[in-house]
Amino acid sequence: MQLIDSHCHLEAEDFRGPDGADERPAVLARAAEAGVCQMVVIGSGKGLGEVRNAVALSREHEHLFSAVGVHPHDACAIFPPDGEGEVPEGAALWEEIERLAHEEARVVAVGETGLDFHYDHSTPGQQRALLRRTLGLARACGKPVVLHIREAHEEVRALVREAGIGRGVVHCFTGTAADAEAWLGMGFYISLSGIVTFKSAGQIREAAVRVPADRLLLETDCPYLAPVPLRGKRNEPAYLVHTAAFVAKLRGVGVDELAAQTTAAARALFGLPAR
Ligand SMILES: [Zn+2]
Repeated sequence: MQLIDSHCHLEAEDFRGPDGADERPAVLARAAEAGVCQMVVIGSGKGLGEVRNAVALSREHEHLFSAVGVHPHDACAIFPPDGEGEVPEGAALWEEIERLAHEEARVVAVGETGLDFHYDHSTPGQQRALLRRTLGLARACGKPVVLHIREAHEEVRALVREAGIGRGVVHCFTGTAADAEAWLGMGFYISLSGIVTFKSAGQIREAAVRVPADRLLLETDCPYLAPVPLRGKRNEPAYLVHTAAFVAKLRGVGVDELAAQTTAAARALFGLPAR
């Protein structure tokens, strides 16, 4: 069985032990053992560290790939204090992201980006300005966009349409079946995280059964959102097998079949080689 973790945060400092030791070699070994053959590391954070970590990991390991962007929660990092309006010229983090998106072959997507008004780490104005700018970058470099959306599907769709983008993924999908259908109609993929296994996720399961197999991706979003029965632990790519087994059962297919389908879909979206 071959699985692809389409969204993980192996760049995060969470993958260091209490003594500062790098635990990624062990994490990658467990992923390989579990059949997780390729991963997209999403470099998005408040500073350049996460972006550079993600790209470095994808250069070091031929089965890792990276995406670069600024998470909507961290939009404030590229604006002056309380600043809004356009992304300011000369913001080092943004300039590096633009450069990497255009020039680095190991970067297979732009993001994550989007809107999330659940927490107010960054203002809605900052998030919108950054999303517009990031969509423009995805269009300019011709790479798919990775969207993070919380309770703002309609607004993000309007901005994506305005930017003329028809290729990307709604990561960690938490919308309704109608949202999924609208995204599919726009050419997007839907990615399911461990949330789909949570008891409260009836709405997500309802959407998950309607997504065509060639548009469905799986992800851990690790270190967050470990699936049942590991909920609450630090998540890692190897745990993707639990989400895969759950989604296979939900959709009434064997886990090998679901793995083959979602792996093919992830390769098609991100342009990954077979392995
Ligand atoms: Zn993420």
